[in-house]
Amino acid sequence: MQMIRARDIHKSFHKLEVLRGLSLEVSKGEVVAIIGPSGSGKSTFLRCLNRLETIDRGTIEIEGEVLAAPGPDGKTRYAPEEQARRICRKMGMVFQQFNLFPHLTVLENVIEAPLVVKGVKREDIVPEAEELLRKVGLLDKRDSYPSRLSGGQKQRVAIARALAMKPDIMLFDEPTSALDPELTGEVLRAMRQLAEEHMTMLVVTHEMAFAREVANRVIFMDKGEIIEAGTPTEIFSRPSHPRTQAFLNNML
Ligand code: ADP
Ligand code: MG
Repeated sequence: MQMIRARDIHKSFHKLEVLRGLSLEVSKGEVVAIIGPSGSGKSTFLRCLNRLETIDRGTIEIEGEVLAAPGPDGKTRYAPEEQARRICRKMGMVFQQFNLFPHLTVLENVIEAPLVVKGVKREDIVPEAEELLRKVGLLDKRDSYPSRLSGGQKQRVAIARALAMKPDIMLFDEPTSALDPELTGEVLRAMRQLAEEHMTMLVVTHEMAFAREVANRVIFMDKGEIIEAGTPTEIFSRPSHPRTQAFLNNML
């Protein structure tokens, strides 16, 4: 079964067409890296998948359930609110900016969504949250406030927080690009570990080494379209499209 099926996705902001008929399927346990120039629509695409933005046209299915599809009149129909929320909860998202709650401790940040959204009991979720914090190497920070953490630590909390909702799919939007270079490694390690545990991951990144080593498939996007897709070797060692070649040359 495909975890994500996006077909012919179109999205405009006013006159600006940001996604121009983008199609992508991601299967279970696959790690897909999306690379491409700034402004090419990478973030918008991720945001459309979990309904932070609505699409104008196309179909989105998550684990076989239709989130959005054309209705009989051709206009996009979304699943009813409850169902759409349930579908989107299958996806955890980590943003460039960590978006932690500043007034909550690390542990409280991690348990907040399961407590509030899922109504899980505190005594049930705390051990799970501690396990997640241990996994990202931050159990000793459980009672600290975000302001006391480095950027890399904050981002690892954000990953633990997303995982606390037990998603089947993780979406990462340039999770290391707000970090000082010396702090990116610890975040990439946590992501690599997730990949090794066969989490299905869609990762927008400009960490080419990470994409090369961890991704099963690399997608090059430009101006709202997928220009080229392939294995890391295909994309990085022998890109076939001139725009991919130009982009990669600029990255070096
Ligand atoms: P990327 O993540 O590849 O850098 P984005 O998806 O963030 O690209 O943006 C693609 C284009 O859409 C950019 O030109 C950006 O300015 C525009 N855009 C993104 N979000 C909005 C929005 N909410 N309103 C208007 N324009 C937007
Ligand atoms: Mg972006």
